[in-house]
Amino acid sequence: MAPCSRINSLQVAVIGAGSAGLAAARELHRESHSVVVFERQSQVGGLWVYTPKSEPDPLSLDPNRTIVHSSVYESLRTNLPRECMGFRDFPFVPRPEDGESRDPRRYPSHSEVLAYLQDFAREFKIEEMVRFETEVVLVEAQGRKWRIQSRNSDGTYGDEIFDAVVVCSGHYTEPRLAHVPGIDSWPGKQIHSHNYRVPDPFKDQVVVVIGNFASGSDISRDITGLAKEVHISSRSNPPETYEKLPGSNNLWLHSMIETARDDGSIVFQNGKVVQADTIVHCTGYKYHFPFLNTNDYITVDDNCVGPLYKHVFPPALAPGLSFIGLAWMSLHFFLVELQSKWVASVLSGRVTLPSQDEMMEDVNDFCAMLDANGIPKRYTHRLGTFQVDYLNWLAEQTCAPHVEQWRIQQVEGAYRRFATESDTFRDKWDDVHLVAECYEDFLRQKL
Ligand code: FAD
Repeated sequence: MAPCSRINSLQVAVIGAGSAGLAAARELHRESHSVVVFERQSQVGGLWVYTPKSEPDPLSLDPNRTIVHSSVYESLRTNLPRECMGFRDFPFVPRPEDGESRDPRRYPSHSEVLAYLQDFAREFKIEEMVRFETEVVLVEAQGRKWRIQSRNSDGTYGDEIFDAVVVCSGHYTEPRLAHVPGIDSWPGKQIHSHNYRVPDPFKDQVVVVIGNFASGSDISRDITGLAKEVHISSRSNPPETYEKLPGSNNLWLHSMIETARDDGSIVFQNGKVVQADTIVHCTGYKYHFPFLNTNDYITVDDNCVGPLYKHVFPPALAPGLSFIGLAWMSLHFFLVELQSKWVASVLSGRVTLPSQDEMMEDVNDFCAMLDANGIPKRYTHRLGTFQVDYLNWLAEQTCAPHVEQWRIQQVEGAYRRFATESDTFRDKWDDVHLVAECYEDFLRQKL
């Protein structure tokens, strides 16, 4: 993987203009590639383009439904402090030139993240590379090149050949549902968090929220103001769990659901029974690439996309096909910035990949390590405690600096506060010294 001096300038297609696609377009362009970004929405920002519209099918089960890309709800604020969340060389901090419509809070609203991504796109002239309202419907290898078929909003089809394709299509649109025994005959309403926007429809209801990670925790608190009762069911809690949560008088935490009954009741493993009106599934999302035809070389099995070398390159199809932003529980913008630098420099030939066999061996070793540590397959792309090593590994591929200490400490503190003070973590924190440290760092970068 030693850097070399040969530079190839390729025709590269990027699918998606969310944070990953924007970072990819910038790095590919910097590396002298010619870039076309395909984006099915009418603006940049991906997931952060909030819409009050949701899909007509509240569980999004119908494969032929009209897709609404975003899963952002109206009250959403970031779950990370903004300083550590942004791209390295375009910090996500309030700027003197930003108008009053902006949200200067440390954990700002979704609209502030969108405004930041729009600023990023403007600063690096990325919109000029984007074909808006153009959905990629097919990606397949054609000899050593890649064929892309696309469909424009006016119904016209495109059929083009590129040297390489970088998939940045996101993975928070296709809902994943938990199996609840008895659910098929349970008479209440069900909705997945992908289609949750505002709490109003839950007024005076008894609501069961399945899942207590970021969306489950946020949505249950959003609903408590209007609902009669909110009961969170979490599989990471011991079976006897039954706890009234702080911050509101109608919010309880339970263990998993044991069964849903046809009389409308929900029985938890802790023995408690509630008569519920609605279940909100905050149970995550599935990787889904309906446009990708690799003759079954790439598969999605229990939410593991494979085989992928370092979550990015499929060994037999590399470097022509790559995926940016699949890894999660991470500093997403920072991650996609580093992955993009790596992909761009591999494509230009400045950085070489190991052989196909070596990459496959690495993939197999990684899967064996997950297995040996009892990590389920569905967590293959969850970085969590592996995040710092992975980010530093990526940085080393392109001689970029390692992740800053303040950034690591901020994110670790944020995860800790989220787990222990989930009702207040966005407005109270104890790491002011790290805020000062990162501003000094940003200032040094500018000099
Ligand atoms: P997306 O933003 O989903 O972008 C993918 C783009 O690809 C979209 O614009 C889509 O229209 C386009 N696309 C898809 N398919 C096609 C196609 N076939 N043809 C053309 N275009 C296509 N991360 C944080 O760092 N901080 C947070 O606080 C945070 N909060 C979150 C809250 C929620 C509710 C969720 C679901 C995620 C959150 N995340 C957060 C993680 C989030 O995924 C990232 O922040 C990130 O913005 C995702 O960027 P992306 O570019 O990978 O995907």
